[in-house]
Amino acid sequence: MTPTDESAPLADQAAVVAAYQGIEGSYSSVALEAYFTARGVALRGLGVRTFRDVATAVLGGRAEVGLLPIDNAISGTIRDSYDLLAQYELLPVVELQWRMEHQLLGRPGATLSDIREVHAHPLVLAECGRFLATLSGARVVPAEDTGEAARSVAESADASRAAIAPLEAADLHGLVSLAHTIADHPENTTRFILFCGHPCLDAVRRLEADPGSARKTSLLLSTRHERGALTQALGVLAEAGINLAKLESRPKLGKGWEVLFYLDLEGDTAEPHIAEALQRLDEHTTSLQIIGSYGVVRTPAAAPKAPAPSCASARAVAEADAQATENAAARNYPKAARSSRPQGTRVPIGYGTVVGGDEFVVIAGPCSIESREQILATSRAVVDRGARALRGGAFKPRTNPYSFQGLGWEGVALLTEAGRAVGAPVISEVMSVDQVEGLARAVDVLQIGARNMQNFDLLRAVGKTSRPVLLKRGLSASLDELLAAAEYVLAEGNPHVILCERGIRTFETATRNTLDLSAVPVLKERTHLPVVVDPSHGVGVRRWIRPLCRAAKSVGADGLMLEVHPDPPRSKSDADQALTFDDFATIMQDLQKIPWPA
Ligand code: PEP
Ligand code: MN
Repeated sequence: MTPTDESAPLADQAAVVAAYQGIEGSYSSVALEAYFTARGVALRGLGVRTFRDVATAVLGGRAEVGLLPIDNAISGTIRDSYDLLAQYELLPVVELQWRMEHQLLGRPGATLSDIREVHAHPLVLAECGRFLATLSGARVVPAEDTGEAARSVAESADASRAAIAPLEAADLHGLVSLAHTIADHPENTTRFILFCGHPCLDAVRRLEADPGSARKTSLLLSTRHERGALTQALGVLAEAGINLAKLESRPKLGKGWEVLFYLDLEGDTAEPHIAEALQRLDEHTTSLQIIGSYGVVRTPAAAPKAPAPSCASARAVAEADAQATENAAARNYPKAARSSRPQGTRVPIGYGTVVGGDEFVVIAGPCSIESREQILATSRAVVDRGARALRGGAFKPRTNPYSFQGLGWEGVALLTEAGRAVGAPVISEVMSVDQVEGLARAVDVLQIGARNMQNFDLLRAVGKTSRPVLLKRGLSASLDELLAAAEYVLAEGNPHVILCERGIRTFETATRNTLDLSAVPVLKERTHLPVVVDPSHGVGVRRWIRPLCRAAKSVGADGLMLEVHPDPPRSKSDADQALTFDDFATIMQDLQKIPWPA
């Protein structure tokens, strides 16, 4: 549509060129675009580098209007803008009150915990101090404007960088919002002045606020450095019934204690009582410059683009959560992370038993191998009742050095014999690097005990063998630490790790440990490795083991590890938690009734 077509609707008339500081995606450009669209005026934005460039673009005729932010509810007056308006005698056309919705924008796939650098305009950084303080370790990098901050983050391939900018900048630069409403106060409004040069071009009239909207007048004034001088000046306005909308001061540089006041009042210089009051005010000031009067337009906050809560949005949130978990997992333990083997890992442990396969596997046997009779009897009993693997400690990690320490290599030989006798794979704990080679020759699965979960040399050593490893969770280890420990084994080339939740230390003393069954679904999400539960050590009390076995199967574990003894009270270790053969039989019957997989 050409400008000569007089029948053209406003939107199709020649675009008004508006200068603003920054590039597309900056708050100024977003505010301009919204205001022009609301007024049905076509906009041609001219992004420039500094506030002064905005003023000179209008004065030099490169733009018909300019937009300058003049203050922010949180960070206060932007004096440069007032000074430019005054210095170049620019004419305010309208005040746009724009609610800023600061968002932390990052690269797709990034999460908040990744962020080490935040780029933003210094004023915006000042408005988000509290949020920034929560990003421990993140450094702030001042940018020329918010659009530029977003662009530089988009152009870097670095997921640890983020920008504070409006959501529009995310769309423009292919970024995603990592956090919203991050300003120190939700009512974070910035006032912009849209101004023109002298005289205002007709085209600009289309941008004025509607008649009837509130009017304001901005002034710069200074008073003598005398007691009561400011009070007298303000008294003139009060007597005329004029409301002040803003009053701020700063020292006039190089003029001793003389102070310059930035003042906005409600009303228009075209109103007689205002004009008269301003004349009287002049008598009480050493300088008075009336920047001009203008209408006020409240621009509603950009409607948040996030969909209203609904099922679809809940799904999106769940997907984003899963993605964040996956990203963190892939970074910290890439080989153990679920994403590296989404189908899960099956660990064959011998005699046809597979942990992580189609069967819920029960591993059972005494805490310690105590004698040939004891281990043979227990092995026979548990296998007859459905156990698919045998356990028994030969090297025992005992809290007290005077407690029974296990039968050592003799015990290993007895366990191996028992496994052969009943046709089941055997599991035993390896406590030190020098035991690894011998145990790997003798047993089917090497157990790393809770106290050794972070014995990194030991983890590396078992990682070099071809035996599956049953890795128990440390007494105070987080699940991520457990997975990082598993990563040590996987990193050495041994793909067969079975994780074991065996209870953690908490404030609770009623049970030996606190069996953390929530570990099962969490681990299932984070890793492809199978997870078994050891309620014996978890609860430490014989009679409470049974319900926890049912719960472990229900919650989705791949199997159980249980301590069973022919004569529990005479057990040389962990007597309180040893199950009788009958207890074990009851548990195995219970488990038949629990649906599985969970
Ligand atoms: C054990 O299984 O006998 C044992 C010592 O377990 P944990 O390392 O979990 O204490
Ligand atoms: Mn034990």
